Amino acid sequence: MLGIMPTGAGKSVCFQVPALMAEGITLVISPLISLMKDQVSALNQAGIHAAYLNSSLSMGQYVKALQLAKAGRYKIIYVAPERLVTDGFLDFALNSGIKISMVAVDEAHCVSQWGQDFRPGYLKIAEFIRKLTHRPVVSAYTATATEDVRGDIIELLELREPAVTVTGFDRDNLYFAVKKPVDKYKELVTYLRKKEQELSGCSGIVYCLTRKSVEDISYRLRRDGFSVTRYHAGLSDEERRENQDDFIYDRRHVMVATNAFGMGIDKSDVRFVVHYNMPKNMESYYQEAGRAGRDGAPAECILYYEPSDVRMNQMFIGKNENNEMLDAAAKALIEERDRWRLKQMTFYCFTSECLRHYILKYFGEETSGYCGNCLNCLTQFEEVDITREVSAILKCIRENWTAYGITTIIDILRGAKSQRILSKNLDRNSQYGLLSGQSVTRLRQIIQEMMYRGYLELSGEAYPVLRLAEGAEGMRRLPAEGERQTSPGAGEETAPIVLKLPKEQERKTGGSGGEAGSAGGRKRKKAGAAAALREKDIELFEELRALRREIAAEEKVPPYIIFSDKTLVLMCLTRPEDSAALLGISGIGEYKVKKYGERFLEVLGVSKDSFQ
Ligand SMILES: [Zn+2]
Repeated sequence: MLGIMPTGAGKSVCFQVPALMAEGITLVISPLISLMKDQVSALNQAGIHAAYLNSSLSMGQYVKALQLAKAGRYKIIYVAPERLVTDGFLDFALNSGIKISMVAVDEAHCVSQWGQDFRPGYLKIAEFIRKLTHRPVVSAYTATATEDVRGDIIELLELREPAVTVTGFDRDNLYFAVKKPVDKYKELVTYLRKKEQELSGCSGIVYCLTRKSVEDISYRLRRDGFSVTRYHAGLSDEERRENQDDFIYDRRHVMVATNAFGMGIDKSDVRFVVHYNMPKNMESYYQEAGRAGRDGAPAECILYYEPSDVRMNQMFIGKNENNEMLDAAAKALIEERDRWRLKQMTFYCFTSECLRHYILKYFGEETSGYCGNCLNCLTQFEEVDITREVSAILKCIRENWTAYGITTIIDILRGAKSQRILSKNLDRNSQYGLLSGQSVTRLRQIIQEMMYRGYLELSGEAYPVLRLAEGAEGMRRLPAEGERQTSPGAGEETAPIVLKLPKEQERKTGGSGGEAGSAGGRKRKKAGAAAALREKDIELFEELRALRREIAAEEKVPPYIIFSDKTLVLMCLTRPEDSAALLGISGIGEYKVKKYGERFLEVLGVSKDSFQ
């Protein structure tokens, strides 16, 4: 079968539960060491025997694990794709007499060169399965898959008439916002302070586009007193592991990282993901943002947009090392797709539609168009007639002999007297200075809107220039200012072009587009599972968290693996008095009641007396 479901939808349950019901063992093929480690430790925690085989084990450990596997010790084995066809593993798979009843392929998009994370080892999976005496059930899972990638997964993994399930991509506990702060760092600091006040010690990720900005931002945040750590591919393995553990075990609260961080990180209580830069496409964005709120409690996904992010991403396109083995035609095709994806990502930053609607539409899902839990749904927009601006921009571009970038076009329209403009005689353009009353930000918004509507396009070079697109053809007879009423007969073509913009007064108070919640008149959910708690429950919640931390330290596992925040909140709300009542709480099974029940009941009992 092929399961396409978003991060946090419970992919692992889809193979873990059948694995327990089947008679033999299940192999789970996974690309990431951290993911294997996390899931195996969660399984062992739940009393299920599982192990992983990958390059993080020493030779001795590996041989030992294989021996135990042969002896039938494990129900589920996680294995890296490259291991499958090695002699040692084949010997186990073919000669040990253990029946492999299922092979589950996680992050299955890695098999496709069209995917974002192509991994050659995945091409060996089908070869391995062919060698087995009995063909097991083969299932594949991924969070993001376009039509091409979906086809590749079915073909290259040799799935046989798979049942394809696509679950809803919506994660309604996530709040989405795009901001365009003048000073991004200041905005970030204000945001982090606010989070710290709302739920002290809560975890969050700040994604940056480059290693350099990870270094820079993490350094400044540390200097400003935040509990931060960092992660990028330029650090030693050891430091990466250490920093990742600091974050997972709640020793550090904010992780500043490149996109190298997070795949396979199962930390469920991440309360916010801030993108300090715009990522390269919606797939990456939704995957990274989706690392927030995996426990189902409210969490926030904020993106800071800045025009230079687009240029930076343009530069990355074409430098993709994974593509080295491809021929020129395939390379060009991939580049073209990458540029298209980047464009869709940029539109996300400028849309005035519901952001959730935009995301889900991108992944092929319909929505009502209003979610009530994103910045756009909570902002009041006003419709602004931009006919005059659109007309001036088009004329300005038509008149130039050479194509220029967005900044230059805006400079001409605003009548800049810079050397760059004057030396090229651009002050002779008939539109020079015609829009001098407009802010740069507003003109950028309008140009973005024109690209979105197909009037303009950016060329695909490292320094992209603005050109007229097909849609501009019908715009030849746009009226200039004052002409509208005086040109009878051109009725339809002169319908005003309207842009939805956030109301001006909010932009003044909010600085960067207005604070969510204040705008729509509708109060937004507070971040964190603890938001559901009344004042008097918070103390108990903190005590339960402390106990969880204590147990986590004893067992050397991350706290959320013991119980999620949500489970602790439910304990506060329902105040269970015995094991039976504990069992009724979501997230608590018999195994955990046996293991931890007494200690948690003790905390609940003590605090019960003092509260009543
Ligand atoms: Zn919305």
